[in-house]
Amino acid sequence: MKYIDEYRNPELINKLCASIKKIADKPYIFMEVCGGHTMAIQRFGIPSLLPSTIKLISGPGCPVCVTDTSYIDHLTALGQLDKTIICTFGDLIRVPGSYTSLDKAKAAGADIRVVLSSLDALKIATENPKQNVVFAAIGFETTSPGTAVAVLEAEQMNLNNFSILSAHKIMPPAMKAIVEDGVKINGYICPGHVSTIAGSAMYEEVCRDFGLGCVISGFEPLDILHSIHMLLVQLKNNDPKVEIQYKRAVKPNGNKKAKKIMDQVFVAVDGKWRGLGSIKRSVLKLRPQYYKYDAEHQFSVSFKTKEPDKGCICGEILKGKKSPSDCILFAQNCRPENPVGACMVSNEGACQSYFKYHQYGK
Ligand code: SF4
Repeated sequence: MKYIDEYRNPELINKLCASIKKIADKPYIFMEVCGGHTMAIQRFGIPSLLPSTIKLISGPGCPVCVTDTSYIDHLTALGQLDKTIICTFGDLIRVPGSYTSLDKAKAAGADIRVVLSSLDALKIATENPKQNVVFAAIGFETTSPGTAVAVLEAEQMNLNNFSILSAHKIMPPAMKAIVEDGVKINGYICPGHVSTIAGSAMYEEVCRDFGLGCVISGFEPLDILHSIHMLLVQLKNNDPKVEIQYKRAVKPNGNKKAKKIMDQVFVAVDGKWRGLGSIKRSVLKLRPQYYKYDAEHQFSVSFKTKEPDKGCICGEILKGKKSPSDCILFAQNCRPENPVGACMVSNEGACQSYFKYHQYGK
């Protein structure tokens, strides 16, 4: 298939759904760990196409949602420093920290700018040599190679006013933590974009240690249904394995060049995820030889992080233990225009996707 329409072909979708219905003769729960999949699943109404025996739940796949409150607090504290520009992706700017968010800090006078990439932040640094530019480096393997390139370019240009605050994350440790926390699932629908960089091998440990099938999926309706079908076939054959459904984009070894650059610049350390707490070797920090570009090492700021707002169950949603409609604030006090938690802020957040595609916004 070549064109998007073909991945939305009603005839093929009906055939696949009939086949899924045939195999799904008992209850199964599959978790998607990619914000793009969360949105696509709701947008295309995938749950309504599935038999009642199959339940899809969202995990910690939205990069903005999994960013811990303490990170926002750290960034806003950095934004209070003299001659400092904070560069951030758009979604992050509205995520509430303990006391404020980046957009409120901006309204109060901090120099906070929305950028589309780490290289935009680097450009701002070259254009403002008398100011320190801190790039809010968040996301999974889809964005971390870009941050690594910005650090290497800053080094090449001998820039002294560019740094990053890294909360980059890798997915498999969180996938393991969720199962270890007792969440019962029968398989993972694995991220598409992350896997174009990282490849499929990184899921082998999850599959081997927990006997869970992992299928890397594309984002169109047929992709997602096909991935569910593949997981069901694995279960039927009692043969959990790592498979790539999204073959038009993902290769087993991923993008070797991007992985090499990431390895050169970053090292995985224990770090915090919203809702999941600290997870071993799950957060990417700069290696010591790049501390010159690490805002954590360059600037000393103090900040306090308090417990999240009462009522927000983002953490439980990110673990797959609850769904947005379980939250008493959902679509009442918490709406996209007035979000209480990160899951309602982000375009890839479970709460926003439910709000958007379940008619709450009408
Ligand atoms: Fe948090 Fe709002 Fe989602 Fe409730 S609806 S869990 S308050 S983000």
